Amino acid sequence: MRSLILFFILVVTYSFVKTEDSIVPEKDKGKRTIVSHVGLIHVKGNKLVDQNDTPVGLHGMSLFWSQWGGKFYNADCIRWLRDDWKCTVVRAVCGIQSDGYLAYPEAELAKITTVIDACIDLGIYVIVDWHDHSAEKHLQQSKEFFRKIAYKYGSAPNLIYEIYNEPLKVSWENVIKPYAEEVLKVIRQYDPDNLVIVGTPHWSQEVDVAARKPILDTNIAYAFHFYSSDGWHKQNLRDKVLGAMKKGAPIFITEYGLSEADGNGAIDTVETAKWFSFVDEYSLSTCNWSISDKPETSAAFVREVDSLGGWKDSALSLSGKIIRNRIRNLNGPLFEILKSAGK
Ligand code: MG
Repeated sequence: MRSLILFFILVVTYSFVKTEDSIVPEKDKGKRTIVSHVGLIHVKGNKLVDQNDTPVGLHGMSLFWSQWGGKFYNADCIRWLRDDWKCTVVRAVCGIQSDGYLAYPEAELAKITTVIDACIDLGIYVIVDWHDHSAEKHLQQSKEFFRKIAYKYGSAPNLIYEIYNEPLKVSWENVIKPYAEEVLKVIRQYDPDNLVIVGTPHWSQEVDVAARKPILDTNIAYAFHFYSSDGWHKQNLRDKVLGAMKKGAPIFITEYGLSEADGNGAIDTVETAKWFSFVDEYSLSTCNWSISDKPETSAAFVREVDSLGGWKDSALSLSGKIIRNRIRNLNGPLFEILKSAGK
């Protein structure tokens, strides 16, 4: 009789544990996610490092402007980007002007928070990008936006702030830096430790200029953008990155494309290969532009696709195919570590 009771207890305990396991949300499954494995990304010298102070490179996709590419701002799409493309980071691109956040703040904010929630649930990083070319003209709106984001998500290690996408030809010292310091003050009220990325003059290319007068904060990186088939984006720009790093500035490539800077043109395979080796040599973090089915070279898709993922190879553009392979190769080993840790 005693053994029967014991057996009964064991069965009940087993089914309880089994049920518990199946209802635990992914974000709570501990070591099985990228973010719980890597931890809070922070700056050490001119490098981005993980929770053990080991240099880390994140690689993933940028979504398209939220006001035009909003259909991809959903959890199923983000899950596909993690599971099939092996993205460790997704960039949520809050369009500001041109019928974006300034005109429809609630609608655009809702798209961004949908992506943040999905990334937290799936255990990957999310860059929240204020996608503006004149952010200093929208300082109050930007502060209000990042106040809401930092207040709600500041304790999540998944979050990375990108507070100014691509400034135009404006002064670092007199325009961008003062803007960034104002926004940073608001973010740091609620979130003392997550990484904040600041755009640099001339469409986030002059990282060397920013590095000469850095922002005083322990967790700041500078945004660098390039388009590998653009006639102007060659060794001259790689030298700017090297110059910035030499001065101690950490760089995050929050946006790059295989096209010309306007998203079109033929892919320059020779220059693209040079950019890839450069990124690999310095283990820089990257997001590719973009998850979009707009007919342009930089778009990942060659035709209109379902917004929920499940994309076949035939739906991918040349850029989409090259980038998916590259991300899978770069991030594959990290996902393998997680898989074996989960066994
Ligand atoms: Mg925090």
